[in-house]
Amino acid sequence: MDLRRKLPPRPPSSSSTTTKSVSVDRSTSPVPKASDALPLPLYLTNGIFFTLFFSVAYYLLHRWRDKIRSSTPLHVVTLSELAAIVSLIASFIYLLGFFGIDFVQSFIATSRGDECDDVDDSFDDSVVKEKPKPKVFINTKDPNYIPNIPKPKGFINTKDPNYIYEDDEQIVDDVVRGSVPSSSLESKLGDCFRAASVRRRALEITTGRSLLGLPLEGFDYEAILGQCCEMPVGYVQLPVGIAGPLLLNGSEYMVPMATTEGCLVASANRGCKAIFASGGATAILLKDGMTRAPVIRFATAERASQLKFFLEDSVNFDTLSVVFNKSSRFARLQNIQCSIAGKNLYVRFTCSTGDAMGMNMVSKGVQNVLDFLQNDFPDMDVIGISGNFCSDKKPAAVNWIEGRGKSVVCEAVITEDVVKKVLKTTVPALVELNMLKNLTGSAIAGALGGFNAHAANIVSAVFIATGQDPAQNIESSHCITMMEAVNNGKDLHVSVTMPSIEVGTVGGGTQLASQSACLNLLGAKGSNRESPGSNARLLATVVAGSVLAGELSLMSAIVAGQLVKSHMKYNRSSRDIASTV
Ligand code: ADP
Repeated sequence: MDLRRKLPPRPPSSSSTTTKSVSVDRSTSPVPKASDALPLPLYLTNGIFFTLFFSVAYYLLHRWRDKIRSSTPLHVVTLSELAAIVSLIASFIYLLGFFGIDFVQSFIATSRGDECDDVDDSFDDSVVKEKPKPKVFINTKDPNYIPNIPKPKGFINTKDPNYIYEDDEQIVDDVVRGSVPSSSLESKLGDCFRAASVRRRALEITTGRSLLGLPLEGFDYEAILGQCCEMPVGYVQLPVGIAGPLLLNGSEYMVPMATTEGCLVASANRGCKAIFASGGATAILLKDGMTRAPVIRFATAERASQLKFFLEDSVNFDTLSVVFNKSSRFARLQNIQCSIAGKNLYVRFTCSTGDAMGMNMVSKGVQNVLDFLQNDFPDMDVIGISGNFCSDKKPAAVNWIEGRGKSVVCEAVITEDVVKKVLKTTVPALVELNMLKNLTGSAIAGALGGFNAHAANIVSAVFIATGQDPAQNIESSHCITMMEAVNNGKDLHVSVTMPSIEVGTVGGGTQLASQSACLNLLGAKGSNRESPGSNARLLATVVAGSVLAGELSLMSAIVAGQLVKSHMKYNRSSRDIASTV
């Protein structure tokens, strides 16, 4: 099926819309002027008519006085007086034109039905200006408003996915036929927006499916080039909700959460309220190091063991650090941990990475070390820079036990009163549910780092809002939630322990406008110049604090039997969230 429709005529190029001077042939000028009365220069014509006017006026006044003295009737005029009156009228009309009231011009124009305001006398007579185009005001409050003006090059009306400029028709056809690779559009066109629009159109034609609803405009495609996403055809919109204030380590944070799960933000918000009312939460960063573990194969297990001993010998650590740290001024090697499977060696390097999440940084450092080791171990065969002992984006006990990224523990004591009034439950009920659900239930299920109610919900929403890698939600959501009655069983001690929160505030998606705005809201945007790494560490503690809030609220909802009820309410209606607390 050919989805293409008849193309609209290409709008005039923008250059033709701007005000500019154009030469015109005076002989074809449509309107004669009073100053054209004599074939003389303008100043001479002016002089003659001024002199004529005042002389005939003087002459006629004298004649009028003489007639009064001699009692001659005024209407009796001689031929010379008649000529003087005609000259007076003619010169008067000329003088009116001199002062801006051109009777000749307006008389002729009126009789022709013309408007003459496109003639500008203030410039050279041989030059006229085009009439300036009226300004068009765009209603920025209405994102669907499309002004009726020539569209900029590459404009696509997102309401009409079949609209495309004639200019791009050929390239769309080339992509559809396969003679131009879709992936080469950015470099070929030199315009990322146009490349996305052409790719999108070609996609619609080849699949026969419309992308109406997937926005194209309103996104900076240059910002993702070579960094975040290849071959874009649009972008997905996600709402960002706010939970907070989260009172953490004495500071208040408004936590941005990008989610489409109704109830989630409202729930985290209620948890924040309980924490706030109880005096706040405390988060402690236990560890901060990103890992990468290549797999190296030898001919024998003995040779693999020799490299293991070499790498684990503290005598060699300083040399290896120097080699590793060349990858970045922020990379600092912390630890090397080896594991053997037969004649294969897995080497887990851990390093600090400043404010970056650090995967690129640690990989570069590992590559430096592998190149260096080739001198002493020429028989080593690097099978892969990642051998899954890292372990990235997969559930793995090594992350749960050793940690990866930031390891954080976060705690709060929620008073009995707040448990009752805000969380609508009791301390013993929460402690019991936590023991039977998050600890025993997860043990029965054979959970790996999943000793919690819904840490992944909060982690994902904050990750997406702040430009983190959502796939790292897997290990970043590892969490054990503990609840215990304290203060003679009156209050609730709640904690979340999260050993592998992988976050950064530079690199990847963190630099995009929306995500960067969310980081800014938390006061954790970009690189921290005074103390590199502290922005990323702050973000990790906020993630843990938000998880604590989410655990408190969901657990309370389950105890109170509100879970199904509130989901029915917030997944199906748009009522004000204030009524949830
Ligand atoms: P990742 O290693 O998380 O994939 P990138 O390699 O994309 O991240 O981003 C890290 C880049 O940001 C490096 O080039 C690094 O030099 C630079 N950078 C600037 N400021 C910082 C900082 N405070 N901490 C870490 N990296 C920083």
